[in-house]
Amino acid sequence: MQIHKNILFENWAKNVRNKVPFLFLPENVEDLKHVLTNHSSIRLVGSGHSWADLWKEAQAIIDLSFLNLSPTINHNTLEVTLSAGMKLWQINQFLDKNGLALQNLGSIDQQSIAGAISTGTHGSGYQFGCLATQCKEVTWIDGHGNIHTFDIQHPHFHAILISLGLLGIIIQLKIQVVPAFHIQENTFTCPWEEAVKNFNHWIHEYDHLKIWWLPPSREVVVYAMYRTQEPIQESRFQHFWRETVLSVWGYRTMVILGNLLPRLRPRINQILTAQMRKPYQRVNKSFKIFKVPEPPKHRETEWAFPLKDASSILSDYFKRYSDNRFTFNFIQEIRVAQADNFWLSPAYHRDTLWLGIYNHYDKQWESLKQDFQSFALSYLARPHWGKEFNLSNKELYSCYPRFSDFMELKSFYDPQNKFGEFYAKK
Ligand SMILES: Cc1cc2nc3c(=O)[nH]c(=O)nc-3n(C[C@H](O)[C@H](O)[C@H](O)COP(=O)(O)OP(=O)(O)OC[C@H]3O[C@@H](n4cnc5c(N)ncnc54)[C@H](O)[C@@H]3O)c2cc1C
Repeated sequence: MQIHKNILFENWAKNVRNKVPFLFLPENVEDLKHVLTNHSSIRLVGSGHSWADLWKEAQAIIDLSFLNLSPTINHNTLEVTLSAGMKLWQINQFLDKNGLALQNLGSIDQQSIAGAISTGTHGSGYQFGCLATQCKEVTWIDGHGNIHTFDIQHPHFHAILISLGLLGIIIQLKIQVVPAFHIQENTFTCPWEEAVKNFNHWIHEYDHLKIWWLPPSREVVVYAMYRTQEPIQESRFQHFWRETVLSVWGYRTMVILGNLLPRLRPRINQILTAQMRKPYQRVNKSFKIFKVPEPPKHRETEWAFPLKDASSILSDYFKRYSDNRFTFNFIQEIRVAQADNFWLSPAYHRDTLWLGIYNHYDKQWESLKQDFQSFALSYLARPHWGKEFNLSNKELYSCYPRFSDFMELKSFYDPQNKFGEFYAKK
């Protein structure tokens, strides 16, 4: 097992920087048990793509990237068994080679499967839940060092999956996959009012829908997607031009310009939106369409709102953030997800409108985040665990109906509190 001592641990966005005495990269379950026996304050890391400081005060961080559990496929049931540290891009490649795919994905593929599942990571689609809903069975080690395998019938299955590593270490996941499929993506712009009016219709009409907004533009960019078996209609050059030249180089240049000259941001955002006015259609493999090019480093807070109130929430959101009190140099994203049963899921028993604030590093970030949090709480929204928020444990209790059940389970599986506390304000 590789061991690194006294490291500076940084997350992807570099807003979290902690000095950590040990980083362990176990290769097998014995290595893991060894760390568990010899250390009293342990945190897991997938790819460090969370903004929340989920690693605070850790004495030892465990990264499962080298855990030697090979993936297996049951072609009859379309279930795959994956090692927890596998990255989503590795899984996509492995499945694609075998004519299979994950049912739904978020917007990047750099996360580990266990890390993404543990924070409730989601994509977008009215009939699709967060990534954890694709899981059929989980194998994990608790704070006593006991190994458990829980299937979906086990009473604690729905507590273990979205648990931020606070109950124990997930080592293996059985995932329900589907035959490989393509997605036809139609991109167009429309005025905000029209998007609000059509929102409910669109989420039923399209398999996947996401909306991008560059405030204070009065128009939004709509990505309306159908699952299809139509052949690929996007050449490598078109993919490169759109995903690399425009979305990475072009967009990054505009973000940098907006950083240097903040007063130009509203104008830049209007220009960027206008560039998208010409409707665009493409068909490609599902995981290529779900994924967006890696964005520039930025900050995020994202909350799960009740979908049934989408019209009024979206109208208020537009009013609140188009008045130039804050300036934005990043895309704001609107998505939806189906209700689920995971105790700590932001979509627990509630179809969800995902709404957030995304901005590049900026001195207005803290007040913007706080402003959005007040807005979100006024609609009884629940925070995304992997992103930024500022709530006490008491406030988390009121957001998450099964928070106290979860805490009870924590004292059962992790009585010595080896896996730490929630990311919460004191
Ligand atoms: C550019 C970017 C785009 C993103 N897009 C989306 C998106 O589209 N949708 C969305 O919902 N989120 C999105 N996120 C957030 C991201 O998906 C989550 O924060 C996710 O948890 C990160 O996965 P990770 O592997 O990096 O986990 P980490 O951030 O490293 O860890 C997250 C949590 O998982 C726990 N954990 C990790 N491994 C294990 C394990 N083996 N057992 C138990 N617990 C474990 C950790 O302890 C920690 O609490 C995005 C983040 C970035 C940076």
